[in-house]
Amino acid sequence: MTPMAIAQLGEPILRQRAQPVTDPTDPAIQTLWQRMLVTMEAAGGVGIAAPQVFESLRLMIIASRPNARYPDAPQMAPVVLINPEIIATGGEPCTFVEGCLSVPGIRGQVTRPSEVEIRYLDIQGQPQQLNLTGFPARIFLHEYDHLEGRTFLDQVASPADLIAQSVWEKQCQSA
Ligand code: ZN
Repeated sequence: MTPMAIAQLGEPILRQRAQPVTDPTDPAIQTLWQRMLVTMEAAGGVGIAAPQVFESLRLMIIASRPNARYPDAPQMAPVVLINPEIIATGGEPCTFVEGCLSVPGIRGQVTRPSEVEIRYLDIQGQPQQLNLTGFPARIFLHEYDHLEGRTFLDQVASPADLIAQSVWEKQCQSA
């Protein structure tokens, strides 16, 4: 499977509210999430949402793992979430410098809840519930924003919280 094209900032699809998946077991949906996984891994992402590959559907993958883009990320097996819903958020709000495969070259400081309780359908179409904390919770909330037509740029408190990828990398190496 070859990676898919990733929608970049300015593409209208990134501003649209994505539609629910009607049949998670549809072969087209099964192919879509597998291609999204390949695309995410090829790009060094820790999550991806369907609108980022030009499919306006409520489907996302979260897959925290240490890599060049997020050296300190915890390891987790990828989870495919179909029609995810937020039941509750909580915990201490936490600030972190986020990046996005659809926003090349720029990162930004974003404050988000540190815990999120969610429900979703798995790839068999079965309802599941999950509590996420820390980095995986952040990934989920970032990807959920994509389903709502938002990016992390909508979540930064001020333009002063934006930082070039190259500067962020320098800071990381010197830290
Ligand atoms: Zn993103």
